[in-house]
This record gives sequence, structure tokens and C-alpha cells, in this order.
Amino acid sequence: MDFDLTPEQRHWRDLARDYAQRVIRPRAEQLDREQRFPYDIIAEMADLGLLSLTLPEVWGGRPVSFVAYNLALEEISRADTSVGITMEAHISLGCAPLAAWGTPEQQERFLAPCATGRRLWAFGLTEPNAGTDAGGTETTAELRDGQWIINGEKKWITNSGTDITAGVTVMARTGARPDGRPELSAIIVPQDTPGYRRGPAYEKLGWRASDQHPLHFADCRVPESHLLGARGQGFRQFLQTLDAGRVAVGALSVGLAQACFDEALARAKTRRQFGKAIGEFQAIGFKLADMATEIELARTMVLKAAWLRDRGRPYSREASMAKVFASETAKRAADQAVQIHGGEGFMERSAVARYWRQVKINEIGEGTSEINRQIIARSLLNEGAERPREAAGKVATQA
Ligand SMILES: Cc1cc2nc3c(=O)[nH]c(=O)nc-3n(C[C@H](O)[C@H](O)[C@H](O)COP(=O)(O)OP(=O)(O)OC[C@H]3O[C@@H](n4cnc5c(N)ncnc54)[C@H](O)[C@@H]3O)c2cc1C
Repeated sequence: MDFDLTPEQRHWRDLARDYAQRVIRPRAEQLDREQRFPYDIIAEMADLGLLSLTLPEVWGGRPVSFVAYNLALEEISRADTSVGITMEAHISLGCAPLAAWGTPEQQERFLAPCATGRRLWAFGLTEPNAGTDAGGTETTAELRDGQWIINGEKKWITNSGTDITAGVTVMARTGARPDGRPELSAIIVPQDTPGYRRGPAYEKLGWRASDQHPLHFADCRVPESHLLGARGQGFRQFLQTLDAGRVAVGALSVGLAQACFDEALARAKTRRQFGKAIGEFQAIGFKLADMATEIELARTMVLKAAWLRDRGRPYSREASMAKVFASETAKRAADQAVQIHGGEGFMERSAVARYWRQVKINEIGEGTSEINRQIIARSLLNEGAERPREAAGKVATQA
């Protein structure tokens, strides 16, 4: 077993850490307060290659390991999870499906501008009546005279309405399967397509400098060639997309937990009561010890899941485990960070108050903790606790 990072992994972690601490962290509070999407930061991250990680070189991407990507994402999220989710949704949800299932023509037209990070791509799965039960998608796409005609509504779609968004992959019902369940397919919808409209941005508890909108499709027409992958493969596609996304939300959570710890440690060393630094009281020291221990474990789980994926091994169970544990670790870390700050932690502009608001979404997005526990339990019941050391193909999961 080798816990040392490769030179490539160290490079991307250190590059992301340097940029995030120097540029993003000092601006995070203001961006959150003003609920402003940071176009200049996103452009600089594109220049640095941070929005291209894992994507194909031929289109301007940086095909680094999944471990390297998650290390970089952790560092960006440690500075600001709004920027972290913008990066994660662009790479894992937006571009990865185009890279995995796009034809060369689709990739040249839609992935190439996004793989450089100059443009963003979104992934539209969630609907008003289809959240956790995404298989219950109600949006329809009907093939008529060589065109898909899309009707329906999507909800909370990240990166869907920025000035640099190029389009969205929409999950739609394209028919019925022989067993009567909906046939789902993924369809590419460029931003300026007539019949496709975005509603106003949401006001949110956290991730306030990131971009989410409802999407409306009313007889929205795209050519038949905009089908992404094979017809009827949508369910499998979104499960695979979410598996990878869960590891990444785990990395995002570890970054936020680390930020909570950073603030708590600094406060424990500098705040004095009863003539000494509060960190010298065992009650505070043990909180720091518990936070650091859990963060270490969460990071190890995230990197192990990413490592399994890099080796083409099944990692669905580990992705869900990493997401559940990392998101809940971050929640506990945010809570303790506020506690260690006392009244200061309750003040609107304190970093830990912002972290406390930000942290909740990690237990919800890309599969709630409940559904991830269900995936873990089903995997244990079906396969047992022991994992095969080498296995061909992926473990199927159902959200
Ligand atoms: C800020 C933000 C950004 C997002 N970005 C995107 C995006 O880019 N693309 C996209 O497609 N979606 C996106 N989403 C949607 C997100 O993935 C969903 O919110 C999430 O999947 C949960 O769905 P829901 O909110 O409808 O909750 P619901 O499905 O209504 O669940 C409500 C509660 O019921 C529980 N529950 C539901 N079913 C079960 C069950 N079978 N067993 C046990 N408990 C259950 C859930 O765990 C949860 O606690 C985003 C959401 C937010 C808030």
C-alpha cells in the first residue's frame, strides 16, 4: 500500500491550494454576501487548467487521474465551496457525460469549448416531481421528423444560467420500456435553442456565489443527432455520472471540513480565557482532535474511492460511503468550529458562520444521505462485505 501522492497529484493539489488560498479565500465572504458569480475567478481557473481536469486532451482538457482532480477540488472547496461546486458540476456533471458518451462530432461542437473551461456545461436531471426518484422523470422528448421535441421542467440546475454557459444535457422520457417503466435518454440542448428558457436564479442558504436555475422546455426542438449515447441508456448514464459525482462531493465536503478546522485551530490558539489559550482546555483540545481524526478518515475514503475509479474497479459503494461520511464530517466540523468561536462564530460575517450555512447541502446534492445509505445497504446485502479485488465492469446501483 502506497499513500504517497504521485508528482502529478501533488502538482494539481499544490497549484489549486496556492491559487485558492491566495485569490479565492480572501474574496469568499464578499461573493457570498453579494450572491455574485465570480467570472474573473472562473476565467483564471480555466487558464490554470483547473476546469479541464480529467477531460480529453484532444479538446483542450487535462486528462489527469480522478485522484488528482479530487485533490484539486478539495483545495478549491477549502477556500470556497461555491467555487468548488461550480468546478465540480462543470467537470463531473456537465462535461464528463459528453466525454463518456458523445460522438466525435458532438464532442467537437459541445465539449471542446467547455473542456478548456472557457464555457460551462450543465446537467439537468432533477425535476419538481422527480428528485431522489430521478427515474420518475416527467420531461418528455418526442422524435418527430428528425427532431427531438422537448417539453417539461427541470429544477436547481447548477451552471445553467451563467453568461458563459454553453448548454445543458437534459434527461428526458423518450418512450416506455417493455416492462412499462419509462425509457430515459440524454439529450443535448445548446443554450440559445428556441423553446428553452431559464427561470430566475434561486436565493439559497449556501453556495450563494454559484449559479442554479429552473429550466423550462416548451416544444423545444433539437436535431435527432443531439441524442447523447444510445436511446434508452439515460438511467444507466445518470447512475454512472452520479457515482463519480458523489466522490467529488465527498472531496468538496473534506475541503469545507478542513476550512472549519483551520479556523477553529487558529481561534483555539489565539483566544485567551482564564489566562490561557482556549485550546489548552481539554474540552477544546478534544474537539480539535476529533475534527482532525474524522477529516483524515473522510479524506482517505474519498481518495480510496477515486483510486478505485482510476483503476476501473467497482467503486459505487465506496463512493456512497465517502459521500455520506465526508458530508456528515463536514457538518460536525462546522458545528464545532462555531462552538469554538463562541459568540464570534454567530456573527454574520465570520467565516465559520458561512461554513455552517454552506455545509448542509452536501448531505442533499447528488444523492441524499438517506439514498446513499440505501445504496450501501443494498450493495452489502447483494454482494456481502468483502469486495472482489479485481472485478470487471461496474456495480449497478439504483437511486
Ligand atoms: C443548490 C442545488 C444544486 C443542485 N444542482 C443540481 C444539478 O446541477 N443537476 C440536477 O439534476 N440536480 C441538482 N440538484 C438537485 C439535487 O440533486 C436534489 O435536490 C437531490 O437529488 C434530492 O432531491 P430532492 O431535493 O427533490 O429531495 P426529495 O427527493 O424530495 O427527498 C426529500 C427527503 O426524502 C428522502 N427520501 C426520498 N426518497 C427516499 C427513499 N426511497 N428512502 C428514504 N428516504 C427518501 C430524501 O433522502 C430526503 O431526505 C441541486 C440541488 C440543489 C439544492
